[in-house]
Amino acid sequence: MDAAVNDILIVGAGPVGAVCALALQQQGVAARVLEAQPEDARADTRTLALAHGSRLILERLGVWGRLADVTPITRIHISQRGTLGVARLTADELGVPALGYVLSYAELTAALKQALRESAIAVEYGVAVERIEPGSASATLHAADGRVLNAPLVVVADGGRGEAAPEPKFEHDYEQMAVVCEVRTELPHAGQAFERFTPEGPAALLPHGEGYALVWTANDADAKRIAALPDGEFLAALYRHFGGRQGLFLQASPRKTFPLRLAYVGSEAADHVVRIGNAAQTLHPVAGQGFNIGLRDAWELASLCGDTDSGGIGGAAMLRDYARGRRVDVIGGVGFTDFLVRVFSNDVAPLRHARGLGLLALEVLPPLKAFVARRMMFGARG
Ligand SMILES: Cc1cc2nc3c(=O)[nH]c(=O)nc-3n(C[C@H](O)[C@H](O)[C@H](O)COP(=O)(O)OP(=O)(O)OC[C@H]3O[C@@H](n4cnc5c(N)ncnc54)[C@H](O)[C@@H]3O)c2cc1C
Repeated sequence: MDAAVNDILIVGAGPVGAVCALALQQQGVAARVLEAQPEDARADTRTLALAHGSRLILERLGVWGRLADVTPITRIHISQRGTLGVARLTADELGVPALGYVLSYAELTAALKQALRESAIAVEYGVAVERIEPGSASATLHAADGRVLNAPLVVVADGGRGEAAPEPKFEHDYEQMAVVCEVRTELPHAGQAFERFTPEGPAALLPHGEGYALVWTANDADAKRIAALPDGEFLAALYRHFGGRQGLFLQASPRKTFPLRLAYVGSEAADHVVRIGNAAQTLHPVAGQGFNIGLRDAWELASLCGDTDSGGIGGAAMLRDYARGRRVDVIGGVGFTDFLVRVFSNDVAPLRHARGLGLLALEVLPPLKAFVARRMMFGARG
């Protein structure tokens, strides 16, 4: 069955697709969402650190107030194993209520689904999109249930998981995996996050509820081995890896692993089709940038659609403006993250010393600190 729709079609009701639909509605632009998973699908166990700027967007969409289990980060401690050189960032010195906020991906997606349900936005769950064809006047979308839909704009927010994703313009397999779980420590977190760089890969402890969310990256074989350790051995290995700043590690929830890679596809797919969020760029989680950038993609795209007259939505001029507007933030985030992983994930002595100096500089130079913190909190502007 073929159908022409005037609504924008969004592929994927993950956090980026859902935010895009809600933001478009706020702009008075109608959208429909197709999501491959059933509505009651369980979200995975990853934890997200949201930047202060992301909170502001979620507040404007009325989603922030629905999130019950959010832990503010008021201090960040950055170190590298085996050398001196530590940098500390605090919310107070930067004059913001928090440097970021930690919450589970599952809670965020549940709150967004609830907001979608309460809005007039049509969301079809359990409908996978198989193919999207750009066209000169509209794009054509082929759903797995046999429907063929035409729309002035198809927004691909499928997390880069769709079968027909274009070849990335830039790709790097870090051959690392993230081991993710919740841990309890002897000392309370008091709002402090830790980012620790080691030659095997970065690790982060993010304050979450009464304990910490752990993201421990290592090469593929080590990550699988670490994740499979019995609790006692896992906690001892974590203590050796992280050090004793938080006392002993007392408890860990079941571990889950995620493969890590960088894939930059870019937003400029073709006429009447645009890619946002992880569908456009998938990043290493070291700096907690992926969703924050995707959220800004969704927000900026919706704002631009609101500012464009209906005949121009999805046209070449609008999509060029969108790509131009997002370039600095996205390339900056991709480059910054890739730089951190590559420069810190090795044990070359001159680099080790340079990194120590870098952390020292970050610690003692307030303008540099403010620059890095602003970038983490709000992204970069063109
Ligand atoms: C371990 C780990 C830790 C992370 N930590 C952070 C962090 O601290 N901060 C941060 O900002 N980011 C973090 N990220 C990145 C963040 O999780 C992603 O950037 C974010 O989830 C991307 O959202 P998305 O909506 O683009 O994609 P997804 O979350 O992948 O959602 C895509 C949606 O599209 C649906 N879909 C897929 N294919 C189709 C199809 N063919 N048809 C219809 N629907 C489809 C899927 O079912 C899904 O619901 C982390 C990632 C990992 C792996």
